[in-house]
Amino acid sequence: MKAHSGEVGVYVRIRPTANFSQDIIECLPDGQTVNIHHKKDTKKPLCSRKIQRSSWSFRLEGVLQDVSQEEVYTRVCRRVVLGALDGYNGTVLCFGQTGAGKTYTMTGSTESYKQRGIIPRAIQEVFQEVQKRTEHTFSVYLSYLEIYNETLVDLLASLQSSAHPSPRSMVISEEPGRGVFIRGLSLHPIHSEEEALNLLFEGEMNRVIGSHALNRNSSRSHCIFTLHLESRSRTLSDAKYYTSKLNLVDLAGSERLGKTGSEGQMFKEAMYINKSLSFLEQAILALADRRRDHVPFRQTKLTHALKDSLGGNCNTVLVANIYGEASQIEETLSTLRFASRMKCI
Ligand code: ADP
Ligand code: MG
Repeated sequence: MKAHSGEVGVYVRIRPTANFSQDIIECLPDGQTVNIHHKKDTKKPLCSRKIQRSSWSFRLEGVLQDVSQEEVYTRVCRRVVLGALDGYNGTVLCFGQTGAGKTYTMTGSTESYKQRGIIPRAIQEVFQEVQKRTEHTFSVYLSYLEIYNETLVDLLASLQSSAHPSPRSMVISEEPGRGVFIRGLSLHPIHSEEEALNLLFEGEMNRVIGSHALNRNSSRSHCIFTLHLESRSRTLSDAKYYTSKLNLVDLAGSERLGKTGSEGQMFKEAMYINKSLSFLEQAILALADRRRDHVPFRQTKLTHALKDSLGGNCNTVLVANIYGEASQIEETLSTLRFASRMKCI
């Protein structure tokens, strides 16, 4: 099996915009470079003192502009899925401001089959591969976790009623041989693509219902959809047993708070998100130093839950979603800066 370098594959995906103001974004023909131009004569002038330059250039592993959902899956996620089937943990994360296309990339739209996102395509490929790889027997389990303000919510808790999402307390634990797991999080055995899609749908519904019931914005939470794979060789008598996890993560909106609205619940949410995204960055950067014992995983629930699925012997891919509106240039730059810091390692 191929040795893994622990490098993070970083892609940027550009959401098409209605305003045709995409000319703030210029994608170079190398497929890896995106330039951002700030035109001073835009209708909405920027008041921020932070923006002084007028052009920025970012080079990443791939720039996905006008690219189909299928191509996004093939270029970004496929190797992580195949790696998981070979026994390597893998994580695909979508990062970016609210409205930039994280959920579209991860889950997709129900409008048409072609618009399915990474998660349904990964599920399909896992079951196709399980059929093909006849030399192994596979068991597949699924969990769906939401992290809101450092609170863990089981999106598939069987006892969960719509009015009172998951009162059970969950704890992130770790055991030798088992790795990181979440005590109290329901793990559902699945036998077909259809079963998995039904659970995905149920989880999405619970995410929406839960956020309404508790009067909060669902873009303020992280969601980790995980396929847990177990495989055993049919041919070897001393059959070695492999387990791996494939985490498909829709991160909370990375936008910073403006001067308005920075109070109460919104302030608290933004503070937690800021903290978890900054520790995610620190964890990924520290992993590149190969000093795993110094990585601050336990600082936030997000990094703790992903502890054994980032860096090292894992496949990690980050998709930075950006929205090419001129008015969003500051968030776009902040997303691209985050993305290029991850790539440098
Ligand atoms: P986020 O999850 O980052 O807040 P969404 O995925 O909900 O953003 O996207 C916001 C809107 O833009 C949705 O209506 C979504 O369907 C649409 N959208 C996002 N990305 C694309 C894309 N690449 N192509 C077409 N529509 C998109
Ligand atoms: Mg979303």
